Formats: sequence, C-alpha cells, structure tokens
Amino acid sequence: MPPQQNSTIPDLTKPASNAYDFFKPPVAVSVGNPPTTFHVNASILCTTSGYFQHMLSEKGAPDKEPPIRLPQHEPAAFNIYLNWLHRGKLFINKPTGKSAKGNEEVIRESFWENILESYFLGSKLDDPDFKDALVDAALLAMLDDDEGVTWYPGRRIRQRLYERTTPGSRMRRLFVHMAASLTNVKELVRPNDDPLQEPLPFLQELQRQLASGEKESTYEMGLACTFHEHRAGEKNCYRAKKTALI
Ligand SMILES: [Zn+2]
Repeated sequence: MPPQQNSTIPDLTKPASNAYDFFKPPVAVSVGNPPTTFHVNASILCTTSGYFQHMLSEKGAPDKEPPIRLPQHEPAAFNIYLNWLHRGKLFINKPTGKSAKGNEEVIRESFWENILESYFLGSKLDDPDFKDALVDAALLAMLDDDEGVTWYPGRRIRQRLYERTTPGSRMRRLFVHMAASLTNVKELVRPNDDPLQEPLPFLQELQRQLASGEKESTYEMGLACTFHEHRAGEKNCYRAKKTALI
C-alpha cells in the first residue's frame, strides 16, 4: 500500500549535503581568563554564528585553523551557547518556582548574569538567533512575579548591560520599555542615595519612552519581534526555525 498523505510517520530524511561533518577533528575554543578549552565540531559552531563562519571558513584559513580565543567571555556562557546549538533550549535556572524558594535573590542575580553574559557572547559570535532567544527569555522573566514582586533586573545588572552593549541594542530597548510600564518606575528615575549610579543613557531612554505616551504592552511588542535582531519576516525568526526542526 502506498503511504497515506497524512501519515503519522514523519519523513526524517534530509539531503546529506546539509549534514554536520563529524569526519573533521573538533575545533579548540578557549574561553575566559584563565581559559577553559572546549572541543567542538566545526560545522555545529558555524550553524548560525557569523564569527565562527568567518574564522573557520576555507577562505579565512587556507593552511590551518586559527586558534580561537574568547578571553573576555565566560565559560558558563559558552556552555549555555553550546547547549543552545545542540538542543535548542536555554539551560538557565529561573528565579521562580519551588526550587527557588528561599534562594530567590541569589538565583535571580545568577539568572540575569547568565542572560547578560550569554547575550554579550552572542554579540561577539554574531549570532542573532541566540540573542533573540535570550531577549525572549529576559522578557518572560520580567513578566514573572512572586507574590507581587517583579523580577525586573536590579541596578547592578542594568549597569552591566549598559557597560557592554552599544546604543541600539535590542536588550537595552527591552529593559527600557519594560521599565516604563512598572508601577514603581518613579523610583528608577528619581535620584536616591544608592551608591550605585543608574546608567545615564538608561535614564535618558526611559524618560523619552515615558514622554512618548506609548502604551503598547511589552509582551505584545515582544510577540511581534520588536526586540529581535533578525531580518524582517517571520521565517527569519528563531521561533519559526526551531518549529521547522521538530
Ligand atoms: Zn522574531
């Protein structure tokens, strides 16, 4: 009997030319200072990273592959990146749920550090899919709350974001847009005695956002890819690409 059109057996075959090449020896990538060395398949590294595509391309390295060093980045963030490439998920503990009880502050801080370090790494690796997924994870975390306490990131995290990103960063836009919708936004813009200084560009962007009177929900804007970097069109969004893989 010929196969039915609506067969529930999925056709999993793909052209062999699209396969990862496991014949090649893995590439050594040193991350952090002191460095941790990861040995990773080259074609997996090149899946969506413009940086690795350039560094490992035939044209860029005719004789041998250049040593790849990322001293400004965290090994933990690179591990998150490799898991993302292999499994399509962001393995970062969230500051909510039963497992966080009693340790919310520590887990929240660690969550935002992981999100930001991974985001900085995503910029270095020129991987918009990874960055867009991190922005979505940040958006969902900001919408979480625990008994009325929002998980909006604190000032130290906001400082770090502004130190290591440039104007126009989509993560900055998300931080500003969400801040403008907080009920306690005045506490953010009002000078206080906190020895940590609020980043000036953050305050300027926040004031502009508040003055604009724009009221669209941050979630709705996130749904519409406003905080994403990919080229226009839903098919270029990591969300569509991941769905297509299943
Ligand atoms: Zn998108």
